[in-house]
Amino acid sequence: MTAKIISGVDTAKAIRAELKQEIAELKEKHNVVPGLVTILVGADPASQSYVTAKEKTSKELGIYSERLDIPAETTEAELLALVDKCNKNDKINGILVQLPLPKHINEAKILYAIDPTKDVDGFHPVNVGKMILGEQCFLPCTPHGILEMLVRNDIKTSGAEVVILGRSNIVGKPMANLMLQKRPGGNATVTLCHTRTKDTVFHTKRADILIAAVGVPKMVTADMVKDGVVIIDVGVNRIGKTADGKAILAGDVDFDAVKEKASYITPVPGGVGPMTITMLMKNTVQAAKQAAGIL
Ligand code: NAP
Repeated sequence: MTAKIISGVDTAKAIRAELKQEIAELKEKHNVVPGLVTILVGADPASQSYVTAKEKTSKELGIYSERLDIPAETTEAELLALVDKCNKNDKINGILVQLPLPKHINEAKILYAIDPTKDVDGFHPVNVGKMILGEQCFLPCTPHGILEMLVRNDIKTSGAEVVILGRSNIVGKPMANLMLQKRPGGNATVTLCHTRTKDTVFHTKRADILIAAVGVPKMVTADMVKDGVVIIDVGVNRIGKTADGKAILAGDVDFDAVKEKASYITPVPGGVGPMTITMLMKNTVQAAKQAAGIL
């Protein structure tokens, strides 16, 4: 069996077209323009490229975008003051503080300072709590994007054995939670593996859907999965550079070998990545509608 490739680029394109239409209608009918601010502390090259991509996508869709690049030496108090200013700015519906932050800044303190109604990353405890309860909230973008990919590609999750590798707050834990919910893309039986899991391969071998989010290049090999598995590869690992200095990326899955056993697989790049940014845009539109009382 050779797997069908689930293109995040194509799925994202479809959602972005829907969003573009919705944003145009919001402006026309309600004079509402969704606004997103991205705050980048320091000059980490990977973070810079993520922020640039978010800014570019915002502009393409008609979202008002502000980019605040501030020095790595910025103090925690200064960053908190900036977040507070954005909380009070009516033009801004979504606030994204690009992670990771420099070590002298307490990440949780900054994320908790963001107004939950502008927390388009879905990292504030209010939104995390609502997600767990299955209430309307901002869902974290990467797991939300994966859910959309599964749903839009008609991959059955109800009753499926889903194994997730990685238990981070931004991918593994919320992913597990969303797949448990009684909603489309949910109703699965979920197993979460991490570095203390006794026998990871025992779990991966029985997965109907395997989601890898570990940050270990090509960790999932063909002998770790069963025939027909659906593979979602979240990993983005920089494994070298091309002659012209561009990063060579690899996922957490040995794509070439595993695609011969899987029924569906996401590539890296072009899989989960484009969906993450798209869901950020979706959340920003949702925030603008909520602020305008349209939802
Ligand atoms: P993270 O915070 O570093 O967490 C990694 C998780 O993987 C941890 O829970 C760790 O277990 C687990 N782990 C590591 N090695 C393992 C092993 N050998 N077996 C089982 N579990 C193992 O990473 P993250 O932020 O979730 O990101 C994971 C990957 O996804 C990275 O490559 C990141 O760049 C990528 N990512 C991509 C997107 C996107 O939009 N495409 C978004 C976010 C992240 P412990 O908890 O026990 O340490």
